[in-house]
Amino acid sequence: MAAREFRGWKPKWSAPCPCASEKKYKNCCHRRLPSANIGKAYSMAIKDGQLERALLCARADITQYTIWHKSHTAPLMHRAHMLPNLLQIDVDALGAYVGRLFTLYLRLDLWSDWRAALGRLRGNIEHDKWYRKVGYYLALSYLGPKGDRIAGRRELAKLGPITNEETDLELLQIYVDLEFDDLAFADRMSILDRILQLSEERSNQMQYRTGKAIQYYLIDDRKTAGEILDDVVARAQSTREADPFDVRERHLFAGVLQLLGSLRRDADLMRRSTTEFEMLLEEDCWTDLGRAKILRELGDTHRYAGNFEIAEQVYRDAVAIGGLGLDQVYVAECLLRRGLVDRAVAELEKADTRLLVGREFEDYTHCYGVVALAAKKMPMLNTALNMLKQLKSSEPVFNTQRLELLVNVTDMLAGKQVKSDTTAGGLGTYANFLILQPSLFGFGINFNAIIDYLSRKKPKSGDKDPS
Ligand SMILES: [Zn+2]
Repeated sequence: MAAREFRGWKPKWSAPCPCASEKKYKNCCHRRLPSANIGKAYSMAIKDGQLERALLCARADITQYTIWHKSHTAPLMHRAHMLPNLLQIDVDALGAYVGRLFTLYLRLDLWSDWRAALGRLRGNIEHDKWYRKVGYYLALSYLGPKGDRIAGRRELAKLGPITNEETDLELLQIYVDLEFDDLAFADRMSILDRILQLSEERSNQMQYRTGKAIQYYLIDDRKTAGEILDDVVARAQSTREADPFDVRERHLFAGVLQLLGSLRRDADLMRRSTTEFEMLLEEDCWTDLGRAKILRELGDTHRYAGNFEIAEQVYRDAVAIGGLGLDQVYVAECLLRRGLVDRAVAELEKADTRLLVGREFEDYTHCYGVVALAAKKMPMLNTALNMLKQLKSSEPVFNTQRLELLVNVTDMLAGKQVKSDTTAGGLGTYANFLILQPSLFGFGINFNAIIDYLSRKKPKSGDKDPS
């Protein structure tokens, strides 16, 4: 905006403050409006570790931006041809300030009020694009503490269809996380392509190109999956020196190397993946849960590479610092691969299946089936039979493996000879029976990573500064 005397919209003195605090404007942001310095006081407060102060600043930034929007963009909203760009800038910028508020509600234990606060922020921009952004944050809130994915999906559904013409990147990303399982191959691809089109950011390019590779892998097209992953590795490496990876990119890259390495059975790629994961573990930024997750991924690399003793130890390290039930399942697989059937059975029986959700339970079921075949124990085989029959929503490649297992378990129960390589030691036909994890990789919204990202994200304020 050109410099001019500011004569725009202002919140009414006694009306609720636009920052969603539930206080009156006169008692809230009006004394703290940052004007042209929008965002700066917040960044300082975060740097100083002053979260309460950061909260006040984030609120004032939201109020400031809302005032600008209502003063400058809103009056133009009836002139459709002027609108799309200006409006998108406002939605993205105000959305980013709301993202900061979101992280502070989490960290300051105001979480129980967050959804109500979002409801209060809905009127800050009176346009469908903004309502969708608020809807995005609502859906995201259900992926947080005490999450409820079904409720998240319900929120997302309220926004109407999300197609490959969607312009809101964040909405597409959460859609991938919540709805992908129910989409056909071609629809998944077009959504991934749309994300790649909307975001040049290297981490997004790495994540969603890998996402495409995984889709090919899931329909058993390993050739295309491998070609895409080669390309991801080459692209990443070509810029790494000039622009070093951040922690998230290093994490993604370690996973890409693992995926390509296991696809190609390439020992060198596996070694590189191992090194990347080990270096990540040396960072001191991890919570125990975060560390356990990386340990599991490191264990996976060792397991896919056939280093079962090392893998077992790494999984046990993960269990020791609070790793999830699945780590125990992988310990069992490692023992089985070393021919230690009885110990594998014992380990599997220790796993707490109540902690396993979705695909994790699929992993567990496959492992249980293979261990049951190796142990040749009737009760176990019967349990495996039931679990394999009931297992649903499998991707094509895993469904094939499930059916193979089911046939073998049924044959063994009927006293028929089952191919020897399905038993301990020589698991030839099940070489990939547990490579389910990659199907999650590249998609799952990592809630903590998002929180971290949102708290640091720099809003692009466009030309909203009236000074
Ligand atoms: Zn306020």
